[in-house]
Amino acid sequence: MTFQKLNLIEPVLQALTAEGYNTPTPIQHQAIPVVLAGRDIQGCAQTGTGKTAAFALPIIQHMYNNRKSHKGIRALILTPTRELAIQIDESFKAYSKFTRLKHTVIFGGVSQVPQVRALSRGVEVLVATPGRLLDLIGQGYIKLHHLETFVLDEADRMLDMGFIHDVKRVIAYLPAKRQTLFFSATMSPVIEKLAQSMLQSPVKVEVTPPTSTVDKIEQRLYHTNKKDKPKLLHHLLEEQSIPTALVFTRTKHGANRVVKYLLGMQVKSAAIHGNKSQTARQAALSDFKKGSLRVLVATDIAARGIDIDELTHVFNFDLPDVPETYIHRIGRTGRAGLEGTAIAFCEQEERVNLRDIEKLIGKRVPVVQNHPFPFDGNLTQSPKPSHDNNRNQRSRNPQFRSRSAS
Ligand code: AMP
Repeated sequence: MTFQKLNLIEPVLQALTAEGYNTPTPIQHQAIPVVLAGRDIQGCAQTGTGKTAAFALPIIQHMYNNRKSHKGIRALILTPTRELAIQIDESFKAYSKFTRLKHTVIFGGVSQVPQVRALSRGVEVLVATPGRLLDLIGQGYIKLHHLETFVLDEADRMLDMGFIHDVKRVIAYLPAKRQTLFFSATMSPVIEKLAQSMLQSPVKVEVTPPTSTVDKIEQRLYHTNKKDKPKLLHHLLEEQSIPTALVFTRTKHGANRVVKYLLGMQVKSAAIHGNKSQTARQAALSDFKKGSLRVLVATDIAARGIDIDELTHVFNFDLPDVPETYIHRIGRTGRAGLEGTAIAFCEQEERVNLRDIEKLIGKRVPVVQNHPFPFDGNLTQSPKPSHDNNRNQRSRNPQFRSRSAS
């Protein structure tokens, strides 16, 4: 399958060539013809699958083929985080390189003045987070009556982050006659209901969480002690001459502690999490992308949507409670056909999380036996009992019981 076969026009194809894209990803293959045909979409796909291009390319093509004389907003992309918003806007910039599209991005936590100025110059595609969008609508700077296409990105994350009422308020401002493209990484009953309330005879497109991506990534596991994790991280960074790494911690304080330790060991590193200012987060991200920062330590929310094409190493400094998060995290590496390594640390209390992750990915994460900071207790010890019935059920299942002995 090629992009030409998806009936994309020459200036869009040129932009894809400039980006180095040769083959459409499965979500692009499925969604592009549907969006070009003007249909609504209910898409189940997560970041990392190429979903931005899946909606951006046909939007750009439609606007190029149907120029309008008015200066109103024609497409709105609503996304939960500032980082995602910035990345989506950057994607529009890259994909519309040869089509002269006016686009801009707005998000909270920074001055609205430059955003309002950009809006006043006329914008065809607006990428926005819900709070700032509603704010600027309220102040009269944004009108949506010319809107043709509405994209709701990461609907499940909107729900998790408590934005669902804001989303509904935004929808109330949209013209009833519009195309709606709805994307969510998961489809719970609540999300399904939200989709039904917004979509008209949608075409369902789905790409399963990329176990294929996961298969390409070399995964390793180190059993260790909680107190030794920073030392083990430093040891591996040095021993394996790892040039850049994204490190995930459970908490903001945990992220700060890791950075403090690494800085003490002369490793250039910074943390990004919700307590950091938007400017500090952007600066850290851009230093990391440039390579002047070797290690970026992040919590899941802050890292959501961070898109670094050539990231070689991801560390699960703490194992996540939700097993799907492990897939999201390690999927940050091994992008665009490159190889990636995902290294996980597991302390005693995280054994239950490890079992859940291995059940989800359908295989054992290979354990590195010989390293300087081994777990100093008994690996055959059973994990702490959990209050979660499901988990207890899983702990009793012999399929998962032998894990800790390995
Ligand atoms: P997304 O899921 O939209 O965040 O995209 C994930 C990553 O894949 C981004 O770095 C894109 O630049 C890249 N990407 C998207 N589509 C393709 C493609 N067809 N070929 C190669 N890379 C792609």
